[in-house]
Amino acid sequence: MAFELPALPYQTNALEPYMSEKTLGFHYGKHHKAYVDNLNKFIENTVFAKMPLEQIISETFGKPEYTPIFNNAAQTWNHTFFWNSMKPAGGGLPCDELLRKIERDFGSFDKFREEFKNAAASQFGSGWAWLVEKDDKLSVLKTSNADTPIAHGLKPIVVIDVWEHAYYLDYQNLRANFIDAYLGHLVKW
Ligand code: MN
Repeated sequence: MAFELPALPYQTNALEPYMSEKTLGFHYGKHHKAYVDNLNKFIENTVFAKMPLEQIISETFGKPEYTPIFNNAAQTWNHTFFWNSMKPAGGGLPCDELLRKIERDFGSFDKFREEFKNAAASQFGSGWAWLVEKDDKLSVLKTSNADTPIAHGLKPIVVIDVWEHAYYLDYQNLRANFIDAYLGHLVKW
């Protein structure tokens, strides 16, 4: 039983103008699909073929002999989580409960935004910036390449993909403008 590319939660043009149909179409239809296809290829006839995705990630994490499986499994998971971290006409403030937790753990929503923006902007090369929770405490985290909080026992709340393929067609080298668009108009709280 192979993994399938999950359906997007909206149409490929639904996030315009902040994420173009061209960007989302390529990102989902080519990049995300390639991770799923490669994962299926790498796990065929292995012990991993019958595992849920999260178990494959935890069992291959930190094991050099399984790096290709980990990378494609984690990227499969991360992208599905990314699509579900956005919605048309997103942005703004989280619901009361999450907002209170953010204010408790970061001092203010503006301070959270600043920390999240800094993490996303300063991730050198490819990676992700996350709001995560552990033991009822929120924090901001950046990860490189395919690395994912679920391999570290952290619960992701939202994520932004800062690989160049996520924004280059729309923003070229201006990653900061993409991060602003995500926080202002795309993030699904
Ligand atoms: Mn991506």
